[in-house]
Amino acid sequence: MSVQVAAPAVELKELSGPMEKGCEATTVPHPSPGVPCSGTEREAVTAAERPPPGAVKVPQASAMKRSDPHHPQHRHRDGGVGVGGAAAAAADGGAAAEALVSPDGTVSEAPRTVKKIQFADQKQEFNKRPTKIGRRSLSRSISQSSTDSYSSAASYTDSSDDETSPRDKQQKNSKGSSDFCVKNIKQAEFGRREIEIAEQEMPALMALRKRAQGEKPLAGAKIVGCTHITAQTAVLMETLGALGAQCRWAACNIYSTLNEVAAALAESGFPVFAWKGESEDDFWWCIDRCVNVEGWQPNMILDDGGDLTHWIYKKYPNMFKKIKGIVEESVTGVHRLYQLSKAGKLCVPAMNVNDSVTKQKFDNLYCCRESILDGLKRTTDMMFGGKQVVVCGYGEVGKGCCAALKAMGSIVYVTEIDPICALQACMDGFRLVKLNEVIRQVDIVITCTGNKNVVTREHLDRMKNSCIVCNMGHSNTEIDVASLRTPELTWERVRSQVDHVIWPDGKRIVLLAEGRLLNLSCSTVPTFVLSITATTQALALIELYNAPEGRYKQDVYLLPKKMDEYVASLHLPTFDAHLTELTDEQAKYLGLNKNGPFKPNYYRCSSCRPRNCGIVERLGIKFLPLSPRGTEPKSFLNYCTG
Ligand code: NAD
Repeated sequence: MSVQVAAPAVELKELSGPMEKGCEATTVPHPSPGVPCSGTEREAVTAAERPPPGAVKVPQASAMKRSDPHHPQHRHRDGGVGVGGAAAAAADGGAAAEALVSPDGTVSEAPRTVKKIQFADQKQEFNKRPTKIGRRSLSRSISQSSTDSYSSAASYTDSSDDETSPRDKQQKNSKGSSDFCVKNIKQAEFGRREIEIAEQEMPALMALRKRAQGEKPLAGAKIVGCTHITAQTAVLMETLGALGAQCRWAACNIYSTLNEVAAALAESGFPVFAWKGESEDDFWWCIDRCVNVEGWQPNMILDDGGDLTHWIYKKYPNMFKKIKGIVEESVTGVHRLYQLSKAGKLCVPAMNVNDSVTKQKFDNLYCCRESILDGLKRTTDMMFGGKQVVVCGYGEVGKGCCAALKAMGSIVYVTEIDPICALQACMDGFRLVKLNEVIRQVDIVITCTGNKNVVTREHLDRMKNSCIVCNMGHSNTEIDVASLRTPELTWERVRSQVDHVIWPDGKRIVLLAEGRLLNLSCSTVPTFVLSITATTQALALIELYNAPEGRYKQDVYLLPKKMDEYVASLHLPTFDAHLTELTDEQAKYLGLNKNGPFKPNYYRCSSCRPRNCGIVERLGIKFLPLSPRGTEPKSFLNYCTG
């Protein structure tokens, strides 16, 4: 497989192993229990939530904070793929490749190597639908989401008293349109406020809107979208509208829709088909209502998790004749596209937004720097000053966690295997230790290595009473939680996402989120981080839509560095930041174009090369020469310069 980037380019050759972030390229359909990266995984989580043998349940009502994983404030990483990241899960298992479409439109059966996902559509007809929101699919209750797709807005209204299915309601907006299906159109005003609040923290999209007053780079674009429906997505959709696009939208997750926001969008004329608490059948019905419309055919796809793309592949393969490109946000959706590409079955160009540099930087370092404290506070109400904390792993995530805790007055120890990161920890003022050396004295243990069994049963046995143990890395195997499920230990669920594990002598440790990612399970994501992703999505759509014939082939592309730089630059005015411009002489000296790109495409990878993290090898990244000066693609040049 050859996956390219627009010039200046990076070519991804052969996806032979896991992609950069843990689960991305996992080919196992059911990740380990608790790994928050696939829809099917949610089942496993549910199974894992069963009390262990001998557990005594002591619910503390007052302690039940907002940590319901289905709460819209919850951050659904990895795309929150609809009912379970069906396509995404299928990507993992190969099952999504049930119907594959070649460029000539021929539909063929792909090899089914692993468990096949059941799609509601296999019946072709939608069920006589359940009328209560309570009837949900138990098999895929929540989905996989892009590791970087979040939902973080609050909900004002509780509409749970209205149990009529939106599919049974006749609703019209104030302009008389009924081309939408939301919980309650009357909630539009609340939703509008949420959208306006989100706009404050999404400066780049607002800047794009301003620029759009003169030009409409998406005029004629018919975008079908499937993402979380939150205030942040609404800002994106309304920006796409301002740029000239027509949009139809469904939710990529059955729980994450903010009903008020969906209502506000419907009120302002967006055909939105989504509500919180959809059944599985509803989920596919909503997607179908977005694409199966008389007199309207999409020519662009914006997907988060791959379910929408999968649906079109499966049901309406001929639509791809008109579709100019797919923009995919989630880890698993991207992986699915790489699989299609590898099999030669991808029939339109696709943009991998997930791996854009800016997004990765914000997610790993800055987002973790903010959300580690949030996750710990919400679950434990603890004070950090003077507490002894050990952080395992001093990569991007570890650096973020350490910085935050240090700033709060905690005494921070670091463990590392890599001498370079270890030296960085020392230079940053942290004590580098082996876990064994501090395990008896620390108050908090945080793993962020991406590795397994970093905290073993032996460590857990030696921890002091009330020690808090949590994980910020991708996999729930960093802490050997399974080793705690033995008869002599008692588990108490004291809050949602908080377990006390009690030793026979009465010692208890506080295990958060059962060893799954703390911040994803127990906190929210700042709108500003979502703004980075949304802006990247908008630019990817602009680029794919405007690209001249032949620039992009039927392949998966990384965003050009210049586009990343532009996304960052659009966020700078928020800080009243003043960027220095290269002089002609300096540009010549450095061999750069004055307008960028300022770094090569492999910049992020090169920064981790010394640690030999294997990204380059795993992804098979091939470095192509930068495009000659002045030959950057025009369509995004319009946007990225000037
Ligand atoms: P990274 O590769 O930059 O850092 C991981 C560090 O852990 C490396 O420096 C490595 O040397 C070290 N390490 C490996 N095994 C170790 C061990 N046994 N003991 C001590 N140190 C060890 O990766 P990153 O970007 O920091 O991401 C770390 C993990 O967090 C990954 O699994 C990633 O998918 C995940 N992640 C989480 C979030 C989140 O929001 N929680 C966001 C992004 C990434």
